Amino acid sequence: MRRRRNAKIIGTLGPSSNSHDTILKLFDAGIDVFRLNFSHGSHEDHAKTHAIIRSIETERQRPIGILADLQGPKLRVGTFKNSKEMLKAGDHFTLDQDPTPGDASRAPLLHPEIFAALTVGAQLLVNDGKIRLKVIEFTDTSALTEIIVGGEISSNKGVNVPDLYLPISPLTDKDRADLSYALSLGVDWVAMSFVQRPEDMTELRELVGNQAAIMAKLEKPSAIEHLTAIVQLSDGVMVARGDLGVEMPQEKVPVVQKKILRNARQEGKPVVVATQMLESMIQAPIPTRAESSDVATAIYDGADAVMLSAETAAGNYPVEAATAMNRIIIEVEKDPYYRKSVDAAIPTPGDTVADAISSGLRHMATIMPLAATFTYTESGFSSFRAARERPEAPVIGCTPNRETARRLALVWGVHAVIHEVMNSIDEMVSTAIRITLAEGFGEMGEIIAITAGMPFGRTGTTNLLRMTRLKELPDQST
Ligand code: PGA
Ligand code: MN
Repeated sequence: MRRRRNAKIIGTLGPSSNSHDTILKLFDAGIDVFRLNFSHGSHEDHAKTHAIIRSIETERQRPIGILADLQGPKLRVGTFKNSKEMLKAGDHFTLDQDPTPGDASRAPLLHPEIFAALTVGAQLLVNDGKIRLKVIEFTDTSALTEIIVGGEISSNKGVNVPDLYLPISPLTDKDRADLSYALSLGVDWVAMSFVQRPEDMTELRELVGNQAAIMAKLEKPSAIEHLTAIVQLSDGVMVARGDLGVEMPQEKVPVVQKKILRNARQEGKPVVVATQMLESMIQAPIPTRAESSDVATAIYDGADAVMLSAETAAGNYPVEAATAMNRIIIEVEKDPYYRKSVDAAIPTPGDTVADAISSGLRHMATIMPLAATFTYTESGFSSFRAARERPEAPVIGCTPNRETARRLALVWGVHAVIHEVMNSIDEMVSTAIRITLAEGFGEMGEIIAITAGMPFGRTGTTNLLRMTRLKELPDQST
């Protein structure tokens, strides 16, 4: 079974979708990577969902990626006596560290790190940025604010502080517990929320080791300031537009999205565009024209993957949302202008043998039609570098490691296949021919390009490029 597109789809699982039946339908409709969102659900819930995904992987005989998304230091106001209050622009409102439930004049904000970092004039945004408060004066435990934009405030609503750098680790105690649980289940990617500094990714890497690939969720202005360093220290990044659109003015989100896409592509790191992509499909079986256009833009800009959040996790039409996304991607990739727009952003190859070969692959595919570019890869690195070039011929990532195959599920254009380590070049060539034919990537007589590293079975050795014609092989049993 193969997909007829290059860009991948991530689907978040939740109450609307965590049954075997629905996950199977979502996979068949086009979801390549499933996201377990640790902001919701118990460990037991995630373990059940995880087991279902792995059983579907066996059923469908295709590697499926699992992304564990850690909640991060989500800040929240405390509770209210009457559960909610109306705040009016121009009035004053106090936030303090007194846990007594709030009223129309004050509310608890039990995050000492915010008070330690406050400045006069800093903004506190409540409830996805709907309410805006500006700090007039503050002490170590209390802040008097002016209400700039009013609205309904209620218990436990999220708080964003875009103007402040908080000297905290993005891993809370809950995140650490969730991370070790996720790793014990076995996940392929771990995403960290509210990354602020490059060091945050170093900290995550130390905890994860090589048990999973790591992804930075870019949703803080400070992360955008350190973009290149964060991208370099991550295996992939996410344009987390939900919080990003609260932390910075909405109109900057599309510009920042394009900047992140360019940067990640240059570094050869997979990049995911996320949040509100088909938001109206939470309630409706078809997307709005604007949403279709938003997904299409991400694809034209060369995103590796687009993500569904509430649409698949909590919406009424999870399978329809996956189907709609699949259709939009296929349609964009059929457009001859898509190729032009992807090629317009070809990154400069690094000064390495692997990049010289990857760049050669893309170039060859423009000179003669190639049925596939076949990359033998231990760690996935060769397939990542080949995908970075966005070659016209699909990339088959052949690896002996199940973990590598699952990680590759997120990467642009890569069709991962698990196969044992090769012993000789002849075996490598005949295996590539067999797999290409069996997986439906080519017809007899067509040409494929094969890349591999000699000696076989060692990582980071891509040094071989071989062209071959797809042909009948003498002995199919070896
Ligand atoms: P979240 O992350 O859904 O975990 O908040 C994505 C985003 O902020 O866009
Ligand atoms: Mn977020």
